[in-house]
Formats: sequence, C-alpha cells, structure tokens
Amino acid sequence: MSIDYSAMAFPKASWMQEKRQKKPQNKKAAPVQRKKKKKKHYKKVPSIMQHKDDKRCFLCMLLDNFYEEHAYTEEHHVIFGDDKWVSDAFGLRVNLCWRHHRETPAAVHKNQEHAELLMRIAQETFIEHYPDLDWMQIVGRNYLEVEDETT
Ligand SMILES: [Zn+2]
Ligand SMILES: [Zn+2]
Repeated sequence: MSIDYSAMAFPKASWMQEKRQKKPQNKKAAPVQRKKKKKKHYKKVPSIMQHKDDKRCFLCMLLDNFYEEHAYTEEHHVIFGDDKWVSDAFGLRVNLCWRHHRETPAAVHKNQEHAELLMRIAQETFIEHYPDLDWMQIVGRNYLEVEDETT
C-alpha cells in the first residue's frame, strides 16, 4: 500500500507531463494526436540488449540455457504499453522465439514474471549504458527492487 511520493518532487519535463495525461479512449475521435509530436524528440536507436539480427531467443538463453538459433524470432519491446517508446528511444529490445513472446504461459505477454525479469535486465543495462541519464525520471518505475505490490 505504499506509494512513493518522492518521485513527484522531481520537476518533470514537459513531455513527461503530457505523458501522464489521460488519453482519449477512442483514438479515432481525437482530432489532434499530441503524443506523436512528443515522441519525435526521440528517434529509434539500435538495441543495447541484443543485436536485432541475432536469431537466438533472449529468454531461451536466460531461462533454458538454449543457445541455438531459431528460424523465426520476434522483436520484443521490453518496456511496452504506454511506455513502449522508451524501448525504441533507448534500445531496450530483445529477440524472442514465438514460445517466449506471445502465445504460451511462458511468453512475456502472458507471464508477468518473465516480462519483469526482462525489465530488470533492461534497467541494469540502461544504467550501465547511459550513466548520465536518470531511469526513474524517464521510466518512473524501479524494477531492480522486487516489490510485492499486493501487500
Ligand atoms: Zn525462447
Ligand atoms: Zn513483445
């Protein structure tokens, strides 16, 4: 039940404030797409986690010690949902086999534990790669501390 209000003390950049505003439920009804404008500040950069041409599955290697290439892998945005642009802007993307991406109980889009495992690695990699940037100010959530949000 603890909410960390300390983050709110940071002066947020204007794009962060826009980010927090409720978006219209019906996208087609919104005449102005303000979000696009904001994202233009960032361009997509190559992944800092795994080369996009690497045909091995990040989670097969991590969880199953399986290092062979797959015929088919999919690029996964480790930070997804509303903050998916973060994965593009800072290169937080990995390659996953179909089993680890969407379709099975082990898939990151079905398995929160696996999704957050990748987010944790993404945060560690980010901090190493961008020592001058503030993860919390950009992403607003710390994945390094394992919190039980139900208590
Ligand atoms: Zn896999
Ligand atoms: Zn994905």
